[in-house]
Amino acid sequence: MKINLANIKKAKMLLNKGDCIAIPTETVYGLAGNAYSEHACKKIYKLKKRPNNNPLIIHYYDTKELAKDCHFNDTFLKLYKKFCPGPITFILDLKKDSQISKIATNKKNTLAVRFPKHPVTRHLLKKLKFPLAAPSANISTKVSAVSSANVKEDFGNKISFVLEGGKSTIGLESTIIDLRNNPKILRLGGLDVTKIQKLLNKKIIVKNNPKKIFTPGQSKLHYSPGIPVRLNIKKIRKDEAYLFLKKMKKTKPNYFFLSKNGNLDEAAKNLYSTLRKIKKFKYKSIAVHKIPNKGLGKTINDRLVRASKL
Ligand code: AMP
Ligand code: MG
Repeated sequence: MKINLANIKKAKMLLNKGDCIAIPTETVYGLAGNAYSEHACKKIYKLKKRPNNNPLIIHYYDTKELAKDCHFNDTFLKLYKKFCPGPITFILDLKKDSQISKIATNKKNTLAVRFPKHPVTRHLLKKLKFPLAAPSANISTKVSAVSSANVKEDFGNKISFVLEGGKSTIGLESTIIDLRNNPKILRLGGLDVTKIQKLLNKKIIVKNNPKKIFTPGQSKLHYSPGIPVRLNIKKIRKDEAYLFLKKMKKTKPNYFFLSKNGNLDEAAKNLYSTLRKIKKFKYKSIAVHKIPNKGLGKTINDRLVRASKL
């Protein structure tokens, strides 16, 4: 992707003066601000209507920058070498002298950190003197944004600038792994957990539906398109949109599909944009046909289950 330097310059200028802007990442678009600035972090919560107790993921260029804010161990370095930059977020111990805003961490002594892969955002991060706090660029509890147009649908002119980066290539939020003790997955995401297990050579606990909610991405209602979603449906109701993993031979105007041939990575990429499209067509509800629970299908199903809790 060709990088527009004038856009990067503008983004840098706005972030330096404490503004929030939208940035492209390979997972979903982020609503970014200076993670060291209380003012910028407060603005992020306000724009997203995000509850204050839901801490933000902090985005770094590399581990040199991260070392100022966090302690990290060998497991982290192993995962970092293999998967970063990429769709994985680590929960680490925060250093006592870190300057990360307490608004971003909700005064926790842990930090969620990530190294996004998108070349435009990497270029920007390299030029900044601070990491970026960036939750997904959507209104809280709603479907994430995977294009600059999606961001504009949600925020209109409430945010000063959307840094263009095309459509997000993964299309699902990052996989969150807590590395403080035994590695534990807190949120399924764009990196398949079996790949993590293979690298660490052990079974990793997935705790994405705990009784006590530790991370709000685990909460039941999330990723909602704003209309009811019904899962594993063989027979649809009148006026319902019908969502399939792959394109049907015999299709109808109310049939939507996530991929041409049933490829789960392609389906992940198209999930949020398709949910947004269906809502725009004014369907009353969405019936979803069975989606296999393997690879990124697990994350797709996780998001659809939460979306169905309207
Ligand atoms: P998003 O809004 O998609 O960026 O989601 C960020 C997710 O990371 C949310 O589920 C947060 O609750 C979670 N998160 C951020 N910081 C922490 C932390 N220190 N410990 C656990 N989860 C965190
Ligand atoms: Mg989010």
